[in-house]
Amino acid sequence: MFGEEPECVKCGKEIKGDDVVFIKMRYPRRKGFTEIKAYLKNEGRFICKDCYQP
Ligand SMILES: [Zn+2]
Repeated sequence: MFGEEPECVKCGKEIKGDDVVFIKMRYPRRKGFTEIKAYLKNEGRFICKDCYQP
């Protein structure tokens, strides 16, 4: 999906397409969100739904 597959930061499970994930990230400073995939790859920390605790 992003070249290399992202993993859950808690359990290390590989995030697959269509999985429900929570993403902890810094909101982009610049306007426009055209490079969201590249941004997520650099800044996003994925948490799978099994590990997510509100
Ligand atoms: Zn997990």
